[in-house]
Amino acid sequence: MRKYSSRVWRYDGSIEQDAPRWAKLRADMQPAFPTYYATDNDPFAELVGQAIRQLNQLKPEAIGHGYLGYDPNLDYSQVADAELAPNMDNVENVIYQSIALFEGMPNWNHPRVMPNVIPPANTAAIIAAMMTNVFSPNIIEGEYAWNVEKSEMESAAIIAKLIGWDAREAGGLYTFGGSGCYFYGLKYALTQVLPDSRCKGIRTDGKLLVSQQGHYCMMNSTDWTGLGMENIITIKTDPQTNAMDMEDLERVMQELSAERIPIISIVCTMGTTDAFAIDPVDQVRELIDKYPNPPGFGRTFLYCDAVIGWSWLTFKDYDFMGNPLGFDDIILSKIERNYRLISKVIYADAIGCDFHKTGWSTYNCSIFMMRDLAHFKTLMLRPGSVYLQERTCYNPGLYTLEVSRSGSYSMAGWATLKFLGQEGFQSLLGGILEMGQYLRDCIDSEDTSVCVNDEDYGFVTLFRVYRRGVNAREQYNRELNEPNARNELIENNKFQQKIADQLWEWFRTDQQLGAEYAPYISYTSGFRPTSYNMDQSDPEAVIYALKSYPMNININAQAMDTLLELVLLARDAVLEGEANTETRGNCQPPYCDIDEANDLQCNQPDPKRGLMQIRSLLSGVGMPRY
Ligand SMILES: *Cc1c(COP(=O)(O)O)cnc(C)c1O
Repeated sequence: MRKYSSRVWRYDGSIEQDAPRWAKLRADMQPAFPTYYATDNDPFAELVGQAIRQLNQLKPEAIGHGYLGYDPNLDYSQVADAELAPNMDNVENVIYQSIALFEGMPNWNHPRVMPNVIPPANTAAIIAAMMTNVFSPNIIEGEYAWNVEKSEMESAAIIAKLIGWDAREAGGLYTFGGSGCYFYGLKYALTQVLPDSRCKGIRTDGKLLVSQQGHYCMMNSTDWTGLGMENIITIKTDPQTNAMDMEDLERVMQELSAERIPIISIVCTMGTTDAFAIDPVDQVRELIDKYPNPPGFGRTFLYCDAVIGWSWLTFKDYDFMGNPLGFDDIILSKIERNYRLISKVIYADAIGCDFHKTGWSTYNCSIFMMRDLAHFKTLMLRPGSVYLQERTCYNPGLYTLEVSRSGSYSMAGWATLKFLGQEGFQSLLGGILEMGQYLRDCIDSEDTSVCVNDEDYGFVTLFRVYRRGVNAREQYNRELNEPNARNELIENNKFQQKIADQLWEWFRTDQQLGAEYAPYISYTSGFRPTSYNMDQSDPEAVIYALKSYPMNININAQAMDTLLELVLLARDAVLEGEANTETRGNCQPPYCDIDEANDLQCNQPDPKRGLMQIRSLLSGVGMPRY
């Protein structure tokens, strides 16, 4: 027997006195990994508890500010100085430094934090996701994740049933976000319509049709798949419902059909981020049947971007007559309408669902659902790898975009489904509408504020605030409808922006306003065009609005009252010309703004057809050119 180790190691694995330094370090490191064997008092569990308890210290008192920790300043100026230290640190110290990085971050659980669709994660999801970091399941294949794979497969079955698909045909893959789902959808579509594209690349300018209010990740997907952003055609939306205008869609499909140009995919948005517009999937399906792609091309793919809207499907079995959860009448009718419209996803070929949006799961956590998994597999299968064996029957790594996939997505999503069940989702979703309704009532009872998205059924309340003495409803009506009020509109748009900026500054500088700290909300600079600018030829004749997106469970009536109170205070402060302090942080090269920003402007293939303007990326609502 060779005696190599004798100089270094004792038989029990401990090191010899005069062992070389590498061996000593290696021995020191051992307690910094969880043990492979069970212990009575797991030091790892102890450390996790300790870390979470320290993290807890970053939370404010119950009436405190809406960010974590105590230091609101932002300074990125030293980051380029970071380098690998010559020596090891101890784990406690690294945990301590890690906690420090959370200083100043928005606290999404706080009752006055509601800037966007950012739900805090539920405990079951957090812990399920954390556990995957202990044992590193890789859901690339059953061999590497074993039963953890069930979290993906069972999630897919549960959601397939909510959609109304046969769980023995449908499948789902967890991926990196709503944009990841979109990307999967477009790749699936490209492969279906242009079967040669997998080997030869995309050689045909097929089109992606999506409503002008669809999410901007239409650009990420067409850009990164190589289809090209010029192949997006945006479809007009109905001014009342914000949903895709079926006449415009049919006109575009007719034209493309006459020109023998294939349509790769039509994307229906099932709940836009702000207006919660829902496109009529059933009617789109009919049009796809009516205008088949020219011979030689596969069938147009119907994708539903339901990343925000999907969870309304949990009302599938709700007794809307009996209303067992006791929702308010107004709320109940909104819920029913949302469910009814979203339930049309049954006609899709694939849909995307974000658990990190309306699923209250950890970031990020999304599932791409396919009606026919076998079909997807047939189209997308790749030859296996030399170093992976198919030792189990489930090997999604043979057809996914990713190679390794974290089990944290699937465990978080699965744990959330288990935890909430139908009623949990129903209560959370209905609760957001109830809170939003309360805010709307507050806004209504104040003369100088007006809700501008009364007709929306979604999660967001958009509102405008005016100077004291102004009747907000009358003023807004003028701005919305009268071209000669355009200057007032533009001035008051800036006013909304300044109010939002003032609140942001108060939030960031820890301004205490009476007993309260400032809320964290946001604003939209493109909620809708004015009624005399429906073709959006005038980029300035659009409605700005303050925005409340009340996703977390700690938001109550009191928080909404305070929110409006503080918004009005900010309004007064803006009028008094309060100074703005800098809150953007300090960025140094290579992170500072570049002078020659790539102001990409894709060409418009056809002046009759809309195309996204790249500059409107941030507004959340696309501004098509015609
Ligand atoms: C948020 C959102 C996306 C993008 O999803 P991510 O999870 O942020 O990648 C796509 N579509 C809609 C409608 C969205 O709201």
